[in-house]
Amino acid sequence: MLDDIQATAQDAGRSPDSIKLVAVSKRQPEARLEAALTAGQRVFGENRVQEAQAHWAERRAAWPDLELRLIGPLQSNKAAEAVALFDVIETLDREKLAKALRKEMDIQKRSPRLFVQVNTGDEPQKAGIAPSEVADFVGRMRTGYGFAIDGLMCIPPVEEPPGLHFALLAKLTAQLDLPEMSMGMSSDYPTAIRLGATSVRLGTAFFGSRDS
Ligand SMILES: *Cc1c(COP(=O)(O)O)cnc(C)c1O
Repeated sequence: MLDDIQATAQDAGRSPDSIKLVAVSKRQPEARLEAALTAGQRVFGENRVQEAQAHWAERRAAWPDLELRLIGPLQSNKAAEAVALFDVIETLDREKLAKALRKEMDIQKRSPRLFVQVNTGDEPQKAGIAPSEVADFVGRMRTGYGFAIDGLMCIPPVEEPPGLHFALLAKLTAQLDLPEMSMGMSSDYPTAIRLGATSVRLGTAFFGSRDS
């Protein structure tokens, strides 16, 4: 998997080290998590706080160099658990959540890195900030909450070719001068890498198919 990512990076004229593989461990059996750790994988993505705690809270002690990323929606009332567990929260997408995170980060003296999720397809049912409002939102996160936003994240509409959405995310990231771009999943990560992804989120392509 890592070889694949590095080859795609090289083809695209990018440094292979500039792309991080986030292994998405949601609904994967424990044995696969252990195998991934043994093989050297350290960056994992989860989309639910509770499942992430079950997977990782205890393993943290054994693997101190873990990097855990929340890639699914976060309810404000789970902010305390999320701040305690995750190193990166990729799905900041509303003021109310920012307020809850700020409070918890102050209480716990712990500051997960933050990405803003962008709803690149302007889909009504999907989380994320509309592309036209991202600059304003990032500005408010910086001045109103003191957050250093590290990057943007997107999940393109399933029925559309992802390239346009990745290109849009790349454009917004460049306009805001942000260092990180989380885009690309098992089915489309080569496109994401060509368009500038700094992290790709791979579940099935990395671990095999999930429990349903
Ligand atoms: C599940 C999930 C992934 C991984 O999906 P695969 O298609 O298995 O690679 C990536 N990103 C998010 C936000 C997810 O929820």
